[in-house]
Amino acid sequence: MDREDIVIIGGGICGLATALALHRKGLKSVVLEKSETLRECGVVISILTNGWRALDQLGVASKLRPVSFPVFGFHDIVLDNGSERRTPASKEEIRSFRRIHLIETLAKELPEDTIRFGCQVSAITMDRDSSYPVIHLDDGTIIKSKVLIGCDGAFSRVAEYVGLKPVKHYSMAVVRGLTNYPTGHNISEKMFTRTRKGNVMVGRIPMGENLVYWFVSMRSPTKDSTVLKDLDMKNLAKEAVKDYPSETVNMIEQCDINSLHFNNLHYRPPWNLFVENFSKGNVIVAGDAKHVMAPALGQGGSAALEDSVVLARCMAQKMIVEGLEGEQQHQKTINWGKAELAFDQFLKERRSRVWWLSLNTHIIVSLSQHASSKAIRFLCIFFLIALFRKPLWDVQYNCGRL
Ligand SMILES: Cc1cc2nc3c(=O)[nH]c(=O)nc-3n(C[C@H](O)[C@H](O)[C@H](O)COP(=O)(O)OP(=O)(O)OC[C@H]3O[C@@H](n4cnc5c(N)ncnc54)[C@H](O)[C@@H]3O)c2cc1C
Repeated sequence: MDREDIVIIGGGICGLATALALHRKGLKSVVLEKSETLRECGVVISILTNGWRALDQLGVASKLRPVSFPVFGFHDIVLDNGSERRTPASKEEIRSFRRIHLIETLAKELPEDTIRFGCQVSAITMDRDSSYPVIHLDDGTIIKSKVLIGCDGAFSRVAEYVGLKPVKHYSMAVVRGLTNYPTGHNISEKMFTRTRKGNVMVGRIPMGENLVYWFVSMRSPTKDSTVLKDLDMKNLAKEAVKDYPSETVNMIEQCDINSLHFNNLHYRPPWNLFVENFSKGNVIVAGDAKHVMAPALGQGGSAALEDSVVLARCMAQKMIVEGLEGEQQHQKTINWGKAELAFDQFLKERRSRVWWLSLNTHIIVSLSQHASSKAIRFLCIFFLIALFRKPLWDVQYNCGRL
């Protein structure tokens, strides 16, 4: 049996950011990732002001700004009634960039051998004598760790171990991709444009002079995304936008077929975020494993980055014991028995933040899902106005110092 101090399952945004945050605080960890290489997990990501605050704390924001494209606000258009609204955000830091830049940048800052690829975790059990978690890999390897952090996404094995209910799925899906315009896209506004018609929404962000990132959210045609080939994704997106203006149809028609991704949308119900227990002994979940939400606010990745900073801070504060020993040598020891206290602190700090993000997201998605029901639309709009009237309320959050 292998032994490790801190094991993180999942080498996505949350797992790598958490490993980096712990490293910055002097805590060594190992990341187990099932893929054979770093995974892009999508094509482009937008990080909002709150996410940049977390990236600053992780010490990587300055490496990502040069490869990112600023977005100066949101332009919402409803084709059903011809209404339009612009929400300028020039005072906020909203930037979009290729996801792989984020993943690679986080990975490069980690000590060598932190990430172990090809490690698919199949089960987690508890060691009866020590109560420490025991991690079982598909290839038969068994690892005993003192602390286990589950950053393994929506269908998390660690969430199962901790006792969380399975995530739910919306009847909505998203196709996203990139379109290159060799002679320029001619989009003058550097805005995130969101155009709705019925229960279809098209998002569009210009990235430089030639490239446009787009997504189309629609009713999901299948629960099994593995059955979709690239062409199916393109046809799905084209079918969904057939009543949209020709520039939207052409954008999908001319897309780079290799850039296409399809995702069914999943969520952990906001009310569960208040009642469920996200840790068990020395095991905890973070990122999408804890609070997967639809990308309606574009906050899932930023929330995962916030989690990483707050979790590492709580662990360092509660678990690292510093003192002078022997010949006045500065000693740092780790009190593994304090992990549960650190997790309690982390969950206390994060609970209401992810609840509000999830609630706002859930209401927005419910509005699209039930576009034809007047009663549900009325309720959704009522709650959006009553609770989330302030534009960009979600980007004000500051996860604090690492
Ligand atoms: C269409 C779409 C658009 C989005 N756009 C944005 C956006 O613009 N901005 C934003 O902030 N967020 C966005 N999000 C949300 C964001 O992508 C997620 O919140 C973020 O990726 C969560 O990161 P994570 O590390 O928690 O989980 P994941 O990205 O799911 O990573 C989990 C990792 O764990 C690994 N893993 C899983 N199971 C195992 C196992 N058993 N053993 C070992 N490894 C395992 C996986 O291979 C993966 O690498 C979007 C989401 C979607 C679906």
